[in-house]
Amino acid sequence: MIIGFDFDGTVVDSYTPIEEAFKRSLGVRYPWLPGKSLWAKLLTKIELQFERPSFGGHGKTHRSPFFLRTKFFETWFLERAKLSKPIDDVPELLKRLKEDGHVVLSFSAEDFIDGMKVKRLKIAGLYDLFDDVIVFGREMTLDEAFRLVRERYGNETFIWVDDKPWRFIGRGDKNTEFVWYYFPSTAKFVEKNREKLALIPHLHVIRDLWSIFDVIERIKQERSS
Ligand SMILES: [Mg+2]
Repeated sequence: MIIGFDFDGTVVDSYTPIEEAFKRSLGVRYPWLPGKSLWAKLLTKIELQFERPSFGGHGKTHRSPFFLRTKFFETWFLERAKLSKPIDDVPELLKRLKEDGHVVLSFSAEDFIDGMKVKRLKIAGLYDLFDDVIVFGREMTLDEAFRLVRERYGNETFIWVDDKPWRFIGRGDKNTEFVWYYFPSTAKFVEKNREKLALIPHLHVIRDLWSIFDVIERIKQERSS
């Protein structure tokens, strides 16, 4: 099978350190600024606005607002990357999936700054563990990225793992299985729109990445019967 993993909130906990990363990057970029803790809190609130569900609208690429493409945010992303921690011993998990013969992809959206996602995958030590790294949102849309997966790896079952299930709505094909990795920081956005999940066929929910092995077994049984 082809297994695609999102990045933030799926293979790394990059949410817990958001505020601390703001504090550190303010220290680096604006050492003279008073009240850094308060600024960090405010910036965290703003950043989380960008994490909220957008239903639909994934069919296009977009450029982030100018203030998010500044040196300050670049510093913030790098500080955030340094503080991020792999979830559930994901390096070992990726190795095991590959040993079992699966194609393992990194399948995630670009950050506010071009090239940042690849940089953060490398800092996390995960980049080389994937068979392929596909980043959408800037040069290609999510739909184009999905088609690229099909062109490169064929039509076998694609298991798509993401902590933001609203991204699944209207995506994929009949050979796609959707796995919502329930990550508390982003799951709270889903709670208000729970009924939207009914729009996703073949949806599995896991709270531990290693449960992906149970999902694989279940899919094998369902698809063979
Ligand atoms: Mg995510």
